[in-house]
Amino acid sequence: MLCENIQRDAGGGLRFAGFPLRALAEKYGTPLYLMDEERLRQNCRMYVRAFQEQFGEKGRVLYAGKAACFKQMLRLADEEGLGLDAVSVGEIRTALAAGFPPEKIFFHGNGRTAADVRAGLEAGVGIFVADNAEELELLQREAALAGKRQKILLRITPGIDTHTYAAVRTGQVDSKFGFPLETGQADEAVKTALSLPNLELRGLHCHVGSQVFDEDVFERTVDVMTAYMARLRARFGWLPELLDLGGGYGVRYTEADKPADIPGRIALVAQRLRQRCKELELPLPTVLMEPGRSIVADAGMTVYSVCSVKRIPGYKSYVIVDGGMGDNPRYALYGAAYTVLHAERTGGEEAVFELVGRCCETGDVVQPQVRLPADTKAGDLIAVCTTGAYNYSMASNYNRYPRPPVVLLSKAGDRLAVRRETPEDVLALDV
Ligand SMILES: *Cc1c(COP(=O)(O)O)cnc(C)c1O
Repeated sequence: MLCENIQRDAGGGLRFAGFPLRALAEKYGTPLYLMDEERLRQNCRMYVRAFQEQFGEKGRVLYAGKAACFKQMLRLADEEGLGLDAVSVGEIRTALAAGFPPEKIFFHGNGRTAADVRAGLEAGVGIFVADNAEELELLQREAALAGKRQKILLRITPGIDTHTYAAVRTGQVDSKFGFPLETGQADEAVKTALSLPNLELRGLHCHVGSQVFDEDVFERTVDVMTAYMARLRARFGWLPELLDLGGGYGVRYTEADKPADIPGRIALVAQRLRQRCKELELPLPTVLMEPGRSIVADAGMTVYSVCSVKRIPGYKSYVIVDGGMGDNPRYALYGAAYTVLHAERTGGEEAVFELVGRCCETGDVVQPQVRLPADTKAGDLIAVCTTGAYNYSMASNYNRYPRPPVVLLSKAGDRLAVRRETPEDVLALDV
């Protein structure tokens, strides 16, 4: 199986985290998001342990909340010792409601309003990550009004291209994120930040992409960033204390993705950093990473009921489920691959189907060309694996479908983390 938390009973029934899907579907209804709490904790611990081993006191892991953001998830990340990378006031509010310590929040974003900045200052977030020149001015103005000296990082675009979906590539020079190194805009930003009285420049941030499998992308990032640190020391007599390398490690969506040895990769990054710092005679900075996807993706699964099966002889066959792009827009957005399983039986004759949703949109495809039992019929349950990241958090009410609940599965049993939206919830804002 794709991940060890997916199993089949002798009778063919699928289990996730040890729980039979049929029973969960009957209890909570479908569509349904499931999250395996044990797996979430294991993934957090894998990072925390690797950072402890490689960097000791000088390493910190932040959970990139945008991958899956709800109170119980953020509480769990806090319990496991992670800080938080938040990109909006909504994510910060969720963290505060979960009791997350505000000083462990890093507030990112590349289009913040004065109200956003004020809310972040009021919440007492530990660090703001500044993305552009207007934002630096805005941060200075608002911090001065609040009578604060706010710690910040600058987001640098290191000019590194990753081989991942274009939509999640962020490190190349022409990215909408960060101050480009190549054009000198990064130098200008450092100079400005150092001159602003209410801002305390603590370090540099970069994030080159997501679902990254390239072998040495973080090592190349370390090369660029350490060379830049040496240049900043020469030019401004300033050195970053914090070096945030962003998130982005890839996860296995299908059998074709090879399992990533994340602790092994972190060890190589640490080795490269120590080597470069030694060569350039730089003190070792405190190193941060901000994994999102690789913490939550394989801890998630989505369960649907089949509404109908449409066979068009000589053409295609469709399995139409009671969800779709409203709860998982990732195929529609960028052709993301998923593993799809019939949740009740396996073996026997198979056929190829398009797994589609019920939105009025031809692009409402969860996954094309999936192999399922040829006799798949209305009422059967279908599981889509590895949906823990960027599914719940990207869900919408398109066509006014209410969003599914999130159920946490643990040794202690199953419990709601987010209840199912009702038609009344969806109507609640209409005046
Ligand atoms: C999206 C994002 C992350 C998390 O990326 P993953 O691929 O989910 O690990 C981290 N940092 C920043 C700035 C991001 O935009």
